[in-house]
Amino acid sequence: MADPKLISKIPEGPLAEKWSRRKAEIRVVSPNNKRKLEVIVVGTGLGGASAAASLGELGYNVKIFCISDSPRRAHSIAAQGGINAAKNYQNDNDSVYRLFYDTIKGGDYRSREANVYRLAEVSAAIIDQCVAQGVPFAREYGGYLANRSFGGVQVSRTFYARGQTGQQLLLGAYAALNKEIAAGSVKSYPRHEMLDLVIINGEAKGIIARNLVTGEIERFGAHAVVLATGGYGNAYFLSTNAMNSNGSAIMQAYRKGAFFANPCFAQIHPTCIPVHGDQQCKLTLMSESLRNDGRIWVPNNMEDVLKLRKHEIKPSQIPEERRDYYLERRYPAFGNLVPRDVASRAAKERCDAGYGVNETGLAVFLDFADAIKRLGHQRVEERYGNLFQMYEKITSSSPWEEPMMIYPAIHYTMGGLWVDYDLQTTIPGLYAIGEANFSDHGGNRLGASALMQGLADGYFILPYTIGDYLSHKFAEPKTDTNAPEFAQAEKAVLDRIQKIFSVKGTETVDSIHKKLGHIMWEYVGMARNETGLKKAIEEIGELRKEFWKTVRVPGTNEEFNQELEKALRLVDFFDIGELMARDALHRVESCGGHFREEMQTEEGETKRDDEHFMYVGAWEYKGEDIEPELHKEPLKYENIRIATRNYKD
Ligand SMILES: Cc1cc2nc3c(=O)[nH]c(=O)nc-3n(C[C@H](O)[C@H](O)[C@H](O)COP(=O)(O)OP(=O)(O)OC[C@H]3O[C@@H](n4cnc5c(N)ncnc54)[C@H](O)[C@@H]3O)c2cc1C
Repeated sequence: MADPKLISKIPEGPLAEKWSRRKAEIRVVSPNNKRKLEVIVVGTGLGGASAAASLGELGYNVKIFCISDSPRRAHSIAAQGGINAAKNYQNDNDSVYRLFYDTIKGGDYRSREANVYRLAEVSAAIIDQCVAQGVPFAREYGGYLANRSFGGVQVSRTFYARGQTGQQLLLGAYAALNKEIAAGSVKSYPRHEMLDLVIINGEAKGIIARNLVTGEIERFGAHAVVLATGGYGNAYFLSTNAMNSNGSAIMQAYRKGAFFANPCFAQIHPTCIPVHGDQQCKLTLMSESLRNDGRIWVPNNMEDVLKLRKHEIKPSQIPEERRDYYLERRYPAFGNLVPRDVASRAAKERCDAGYGVNETGLAVFLDFADAIKRLGHQRVEERYGNLFQMYEKITSSSPWEEPMMIYPAIHYTMGGLWVDYDLQTTIPGLYAIGEANFSDHGGNRLGASALMQGLADGYFILPYTIGDYLSHKFAEPKTDTNAPEFAQAEKAVLDRIQKIFSVKGTETVDSIHKKLGHIMWEYVGMARNETGLKKAIEEIGELRKEFWKTVRVPGTNEEFNQELEKALRLVDFFDIGELMARDALHRVESCGGHFREEMQTEEGETKRDDEHFMYVGAWEYKGEDIEPELHKEPLKYENIRIATRNYKD
């Protein structure tokens, strides 16, 4: 039975007609009334920038906020490999249905059918919009846009701009945003960090933000608030995310009543440069696109492994018959292009068995020798040149001569704020888009689908659905930031900052964050079990106490103070980490990136429990030191046959 607090608002009717039906029902705000309405958008990545530009163009008054000095420096800029769309340019039998099917299957049957179908449906329009903006997608000789494949699919539907797709897409969205800024419909607040959400009479009415340059705490009111603040993968300290990526805004919303869905669904990406020391604070992704042509292997005998570790031989000296291309061996149908969760676990399995190829034993090879032979230097250079360069700069080893070394790392969070079909959270007037919501990716996101989802939300879904809510609001006056709710929220923020400064301990924020990262990776990482997850909850609790006794944040609030920024975010990462562990503990099944060791097949593959866990788990905050309450949104599959994921044949 549906939980009365989780009304998903999925439209009635056949799957392919649901979005058209919803659009037809949505009330439209007239242009003269749009001018009276204010919307706050927090975040300027692909989700936020596309939403703010679209809302501004529609005629709303938009305020947009970001941490960086310019909206175009959001984390989205790091996206390398590409963006999916069901255009079928390759004539390889792609379709909206196939993209929908791949995404549901890739997510291990833990996402909503209606949302995923809509995502696939609008995917083609995203490419048209971006091309019209001048995004320089790669093209074939005849002028058609080029495509490549990403994991978990058997067609080529990924559009790309070399290894800089996110950057080029963000430049497109940023140009559209700048047009609105110049026209006065969008006002931009760079270097402003949201520190609390303001609720008045149960509705989202504004935010409290800190001016990161002066430290001033400021109040901003609106008729609705949109969170596009990205993912929370940095709870693990080391991840592929940008250093500023954080989960604080969604935790502020959670504490004010927005439910947090599937927090334990985190993605571990198989192709990252391995950890190389204690002083590291960031991991580097090598794009999944490399798996189109790169072959993943380890030696099949221990003698070669030991020689490699002692640098007595080079990988290229190991002949074919002494190599184990384990993905091709285990998953012949998809080979090196199995989904990320499958590829990551397979790498861990080989390394746990002792075949890791570097000194730490935590690395496998990604080899381009065959591709260079088959395609020639120039074509490989065209496809992956900048990625090869980046790898060589970081490791001093040339992928032209020897294979890359890679290992899985935390990359993306499928969990996030629970949203209904309109992308509205459980707080009226509060919307969440992009990686910040629990999104369409279920237990595992397929490569090149995050950019698609962020831009679908921002350009084509939110601008319509938010109108339905705002159509009731144009008669309301502007939100009064002198209201007591703003004063209370502002005081709570100032108290929190004061409390952090008052600790005056000896530990840096990073040193404590690193300890949290170790707990998360060890117990809430690629493999999880009951004992470990309970230990994680306990150890995070202890670490939180340690933080409040030992942290030292130098300087003051009234200045540019990045240690303070990090400390405020770390306080929220403790709560996120704990919620992730709690969610992972309750979900006694393996699905997608969530691998419970107790639930695996004899071959070590994930074992779902559809009878007991085919739902979205959404957590409701109940107060400090009180266990949150779990709500369940059952998932129904009426247009797709539920099956065990199979990438073997
Ligand atoms: C290295 C790398 C490569 C990737 N490659 C691909 C790819 O090829 N294809 C693909 O589909 N996906 C890829 N992804 C995933 C994808 O890039 C992200 O999921 C996506 O860009 C997230 O976009 P977003 O708009 O939701 O958030 P983000 O781009 O993370 O933007 C968040 C914004 O919120 C702001 N913000 C955060 N908190 C606050 C606050 N409290 N107050 C004010 N502002 C705040 C930030 O300043 C920023 O502007 C990649 C990810 C990584 C790490």
